[in-house]
Amino acid sequence: MLEAIRLTAQAAYWLNPWRDVFLVTHVIGLACFAYIVAKRMSPLLRGQPDSRFDRPWIRVERILKYWFGQWKHPRYRTAGIIHIFIFAGFLTLAIRAFALLILGFNEDLVIPGLSGTLGHLYEVTTDYAATIVLVAVIFAGIRRVVFKPARYEVPAKFGKAHKADAIFLLALIGILMVADSLFEATKGGEAFQAGRGLEFVSFLSLPWLLKGAFASTSISTLRHLHFAASYLHEVTFYFLLCYRPFGIQFHVETSLFNVYFAKLDKGTVKPVKWGVTDEHLDQVKSFGVKKFEDFTWKQMLDFYSCADCGRCSDNCPANAVGRPLSPRFLTIKARDYCFEHYPVLGTAHNNQPLIGSVYSADEIWSCTTCGACEEECPLLVDYIDKIVDLRRGMIDDGNVPQTLQKPLKAIESRGNPYGKMEKKRADWASAKEFQPACNVKILDGKNRAETLYFVDSITSYDDRIQKIGRATARILGHLGEDFGILGAAEKDSGHEVRRFGEEMLFMDLRDHNVEAIKESGVERIVTSDPHAYNALKNDYKNVPPVEHISQVIAREVEAGKIKFNPVTNGDVYTYHDPCYLGRHNQIYDDPRNVLDAIPGLKRVEMSRSRDRSFCCGGGGLMLFYEPKEEQRMGVKRVQMAAEAGANVIVTACPYCMVNLEDAIKVAGLEGKMTAIDLAELVDKQMASESAQVM
Ligand code: SF4
Ligand code: SF4
Repeated sequence: MLEAIRLTAQAAYWLNPWRDVFLVTHVIGLACFAYIVAKRMSPLLRGQPDSRFDRPWIRVERILKYWFGQWKHPRYRTAGIIHIFIFAGFLTLAIRAFALLILGFNEDLVIPGLSGTLGHLYEVTTDYAATIVLVAVIFAGIRRVVFKPARYEVPAKFGKAHKADAIFLLALIGILMVADSLFEATKGGEAFQAGRGLEFVSFLSLPWLLKGAFASTSISTLRHLHFAASYLHEVTFYFLLCYRPFGIQFHVETSLFNVYFAKLDKGTVKPVKWGVTDEHLDQVKSFGVKKFEDFTWKQMLDFYSCADCGRCSDNCPANAVGRPLSPRFLTIKARDYCFEHYPVLGTAHNNQPLIGSVYSADEIWSCTTCGACEEECPLLVDYIDKIVDLRRGMIDDGNVPQTLQKPLKAIESRGNPYGKMEKKRADWASAKEFQPACNVKILDGKNRAETLYFVDSITSYDDRIQKIGRATARILGHLGEDFGILGAAEKDSGHEVRRFGEEMLFMDLRDHNVEAIKESGVERIVTSDPHAYNALKNDYKNVPPVEHISQVIAREVEAGKIKFNPVTNGDVYTYHDPCYLGRHNQIYDDPRNVLDAIPGLKRVEMSRSRDRSFCCGGGGLMLFYEPKEEQRMGVKRVQMAAEAGANVIVTACPYCMVNLEDAIKVAGLEGKMTAIDLAELVDKQMASESAQVM
């Protein structure tokens, strides 16, 4: 096609007289773009360090999957398909767009490799690409204006709507496509006038339609239209290039880098400061994010890269129940702040506190760290690390919600949020109706075992949840595992403490537990608590391999070591994925495989399941903190179970159990719906004398 452009251009040399105009426009356009980007990069240079240069091949794979392959876009079918068409069209047209820019002042241009048949094929492809992009932007515009998907709306409390900006940008893309096609069509018209015939290869494409329309247009008109198309293309191209860094379309430039540098390790939390080891943390003067410049450069790049698509907030349970948090606006507000305080024209004025001006404390405490926002974002924007960093900043300033102060103090002094005695930590295992059938060893130096059952605080102390502990112990006993617990030597895993921003307290808990685990001499760890599982797997270092009890059960069911009695009562079961088992650790199939292995058990899926599971209301310290909300997350979740036709919700997390049982009462579903932990259900249905219900 470029060869074709060259030949036609050589024949006509229509653009040569305006060569200087094109050249000056190029220089102005590029200079403006370079200046704007330099200004936009200046806050990143003031941001905190971030370690994102490791594992380059994994990062390249992610580029291929999430950027080039648009992997997450089809999760929203209509918007996703429109985006894929626009993206693919842009990629296809990239060479042609640059060629058109150069042809303005050098009509002899030949792009190597794109002559002859290949060039002709490229011409046909780009004719269709321009047409498809034009149709896609028209569809996108109609969706925005007529159908108005709710997730694009901006509630007044979060600022101004961005619809006009989005429409304007779509219009600019449309103009670019029309100019491109017009350029091509005027050339075709000239070829016809010169007796070289009309090409009708790109059947029904926009250039094809225009070529037909120009068959009898005078050469003089075609010449003017050709220049107008070329110059309109150039001006629109540079205008778009320079306008994008002022709004949501900046992601076109930044998304490739954002995906490359995205976080690789799910379930982890970033260190307080990259490059500062735990041993030197006491020398850090200020913890967390208090002002914009406390964000890392990558966190700032996230702000630039957000496409404002609203998918994160659409899936955020906090947003769904009316808490004062919507992740999309965490980003948009930070970006607005950045643009205002680091203006393209004028000097930067910064260092203002974010809490109280940009964010409210409630907004930041409202997050359950469920990860639904991150799972959904097509551009791999992080949220949990930023929220934890903002909490670290508040904790450092002594800004801790009243209701959390007591449990945090209790964890510090007693190793559990209830303030109960350490020596009572193993009492659940000595219950008189349980102990004779299942003797749980306390690994206190006198006893040794191969496997440690890490119980954690809620299962150790909460009367209801202790039943999950006993069911887990019975399953391990049934399997003949040589296992024990740490008893008084175990402290809270610190999982929630860390995510609430209390890094130093977390480190104390972690160090204590790591030492106790090492002293016990165990070779593996099992836990029934996904939060403890995530802490041991992703927050702790140098501990034996850890498994969640659902993984152990699934393996042993598969091996034939666990057999089940059939379920005969006609109940309909559904499985609720706990966030820290599912999204954070991708354990989706094991619990489902276990349920499906129970004869007669009828299982249905909720509309939101697996990686789109809806958080039950937050585990750990969320039990001690009640943000303002219109409805409880747990209530919404049990309603989803009811809508799916289930009357039993199975989960595999003690915190989910507390929230769901409470929600069943609040939703008025008592007697109609029950919740049960997977370990309890397995214990109840195991075909063995050792399986007993308590
Ligand atoms: S982690 Fe969950 S609660 Fe927090 S912002 Fe994301 S979706 Fe909302
Ligand atoms: S953070 Fe991601 S999901 Fe959320 S609005 Fe931005 S691009 Fe969309």
